[in-house]
Amino acid sequence: MRRSKKQRTCWSRYAFRWSGAGSPATQVPEMRIIAGQLGPGITESALGITILAADHHNRGAVFFARVRAMEDVYGYLIDLGRLLGYVLAHEIEHLLLNSKAHSPEGIMIANFAEPEVLRASQRRLRFTPSDREIFSRK
Ligand SMILES: [Zn+2]
Repeated sequence: MRRSKKQRTCWSRYAFRWSGAGSPATQVPEMRIIAGQLGPGITESALGITILAADHHNRGAVFFARVRAMEDVYGYLIDLGRLLGYVLAHEIEHLLLNSKAHSPEGIMIANFAEPEVLRASQRRLRFTPSDREIFSRK
């Protein structure tokens, strides 16, 4: 998908927070999109993080500035909204499966790079059959 003229949404005005009830007692997973600065200890190339808690109050976050930086590189292939959606799908899968496992290909690949962006732009980036099998067992 090529765009003749790059159109940008001013995402920096938005603060995203998508979560469940937020109470550990409910054991509802929580997902945030972080638009601000990241603290130390976050892998330089990570687009998101999932924290699996012993009490199953799993939490995840997507690093919006890094997703936008990736869109700056690959914006000729994919728009920011779709790219963000794929990163969210990846982190949500970790939350729901209570697992940090990755697949050698597809949405659950550990490192999202140009081949994945290209497949995503063509709507061909999917969960693998083994991802779906694990999900169906949960
Ligand atoms: Zn992951």
